[in-house]
Amino acid sequence: MANKEKFKRSWLVYSKTKNALYCTACKLFANSCPSALGKDGFINWKNASERLAEHDISPVHKHKECFIKWKTRLQQMKSCLGIDCDIERQIHSEKEKWRHILHVAMDAVMYLATNCLSFRGSKESQIDFTQHCLQLSRGNFLNLINLLAKYDPTLKCHLDHLKKGQTSYLSKTIQNEMIDLMAIKVRNNIINEIKEANYFTIMFDCTPDVSHTEQMSQVIRYLKRTESGYEIKESFIDFLEVDGKTGEYISQRILDKLQADDLDVEKCRGQSYDNGSNMAGIYKGVQSRILRMNELAVFVPCLHTH
Ligand SMILES: [Zn+2]
Repeated sequence: MANKEKFKRSWLVYSKTKNALYCTACKLFANSCPSALGKDGFINWKNASERLAEHDISPVHKHKECFIKWKTRLQQMKSCLGIDCDIERQIHSEKEKWRHILHVAMDAVMYLATNCLSFRGSKESQIDFTQHCLQLSRGNFLNLINLLAKYDPTLKCHLDHLKKGQTSYLSKTIQNEMIDLMAIKVRNNIINEIKEANYFTIMFDCTPDVSHTEQMSQVIRYLKRTESGYEIKESFIDFLEVDGKTGEYISQRILDKLQADDLDVEKCRGQSYDNGSNMAGIYKGVQSRILRMNELAVFVPCLHTH
C-alpha cells in the first residue's frame, strides 16, 4: 500500500501450469471481465504490481461486486445454505448409510460367529430381498439381516432397492472378509494372553475334514491371571493343513506354527496329542523330537483335545 504496509490479496491465485495469475472472484462471478485476471489469466508480469493494484479498485473491472458475491457464497456454504450444500448433505448421508449397513453386517457376523452358527444357505445367489419372510435356504446370515431390517428403516430401504450385481455389503465375500478380520483380532488377543502367562502346553490333534483333507487343530492351554487368582484356559488357535504323516514332518509343522505365532518353544511346559487316533505312532516321534529340544515340555498321554 502507499504507506508501505503489506497485505495479502485473498483473491489472487497463481496457476503453475498456465504460469498466469487469476482473480478467484472475477473468474467465478464476472460475466465478462475486462481484465485478463478474470478471463484467460494475467501474464503481463512487467506491470503486474500496478495492474493488480488497479484491479483492486477499478470500477470498470467490477471486481468489488464479484468479491462480495464470492465471499457471500463462501459464507453460505459454511452455514450450509444453497444447492452445493444440498449435494454436500446428500454425500454425507450416503456415507452415513453405508457406514450403518456395514455396522449392522458386522454385528450380524459377530453374533453368528460367537454363537457358533452357520452363515450361508443353499440358495444365496437367488435371493429376493423384497420378500420379507424368512427363507430357510437363505441361511442364517441373510435371514438375520432380514429380521433386523424389520426394525431398521435404513437397512430395510437398502434391501428394498438392492439390484443384482450391486454392492450390498452382504455378499459371501464380505462375510468371509469380516470373519477373517475378526479371527485375526481374536487370535492376537489369545496369543497375547498366552505370552502374558509365559508358560503353556500345546495340544495338537489330526482329523480329516469333510473333503478328506487331513487337518490338525491347534489348542493351547495356559493360565490366565484374573482378579481373584488364576483361570485355566484352553484356547483354539488354528486349523493347520497337513500333507505329510511322519514324526519329522508333523513336529516341524508344529514348531513352524509356534514360531509364526511368536511363541517360544522354550516356554512350553507340556505337549499332548490324541493318542487314540491312527496318528498315535507318529505322535510318539513328535513328542520325543520336541522333548529333545526342550526337556520341560512334558508329554501328557491320552488327553483329548476336544
Ligand atoms: Zn477481481
